[in-house]
Amino acid sequence: MNKKVVVLTGAGGVLCSTLALALSKEGHKIAVLDLKKEAADKVANEINNAGGTAIGVVVNVLEKESLLAAKEEINSKLGPCDILVNGAGGNHPLGTTSNPHLEKEDLTNTTEGFKTFFDLDSSGIQFTFNLNFIGTLLPTQVFAQDMIGRAGCSILNISSMNAFTPLTKIPAYSGAKAAVSNFTQWLAVHFSKVGIRVNALAPGFFLTDQNRALLTENDGSLTPRGNTIIGQTPMGRFGTPEDLIGTTLWLCGDGAAFVTGVVVPVDGGFSAFSGV
Ligand code: NAD
Repeated sequence: MNKKVVVLTGAGGVLCSTLALALSKEGHKIAVLDLKKEAADKVANEINNAGGTAIGVVVNVLEKESLLAAKEEINSKLGPCDILVNGAGGNHPLGTTSNPHLEKEDLTNTTEGFKTFFDLDSSGIQFTFNLNFIGTLLPTQVFAQDMIGRAGCSILNISSMNAFTPLTKIPAYSGAKAAVSNFTQWLAVHFSKVGIRVNALAPGFFLTDQNRALLTENDGSLTPRGNTIIGQTPMGRFGTPEDLIGTTLWLCGDGAAFVTGVVVPVDGGFSAFSGV
């Protein structure tokens, strides 16, 4: 890969901070964007201390003004954006049901916080759709302007397993990631004449601080949901953030020059397995 300016959103987080470090080791200049300034700066410092070039930039991917200000800073300090990784994303508890399936007795369950489909709050659903879908669209509107007509530019979105088949309990997150996958294909076609490739990663199950309590008990053993996931993952383990590096370098590099509009599962075989 020729040396590029790479902009990653959500790069103060677990997965994209790992991708930011890996891309910097390839010699690229890195803009680490995150809602949390401290988290962005920490990753940028780590890259700079390791001999790379990075800046931490606070941004809200849901606010165009904030993205335009970030672009101005990045353009003046690093140059025009060659590669955009849309990593900011996540779920919201108000868009999540308590149980995987509705049972008749759920309708009379008075446990505090217990939620059936009928209790889902549209604000949680909107939050999740906005963060994952609008939070991918707006940064693309801002940073893809740098890429028009320049060689070797590309966009990498972050979808999920639940975009192929929805996971129980999380209809909002599943629908939002399905929108990200669909948008990846739409944008790949839309940008095909101006030289911008658009692809996505679909990570399987990665044990991170956000889901550790859901998937593992205090003693490190698996919860029932953790067990179900591992049982459905032919390779028999959770992913590690480092498992995403190879596919990211490939999709963002010259080796993928004729690859656009694909959503690549990195999932230990989860999406290939029927469960039987
Ligand atoms: P994470 O929570 O560690 O990182 C997400 C980062 O996004 C955080 O640092 C957060 O501050 C930032 N962010 C949140 N809202 C923002 C906003 N409005 N503007 C700018 N930044 C914002 O999550 P992660 O596990 O590293 O996930 C990264 C991406 O991968 C997400 O899109 C997630 O949906 C997706 N994903 C994760 C997994 C997994 O198992 N962890 C699996 C599939 C897909």
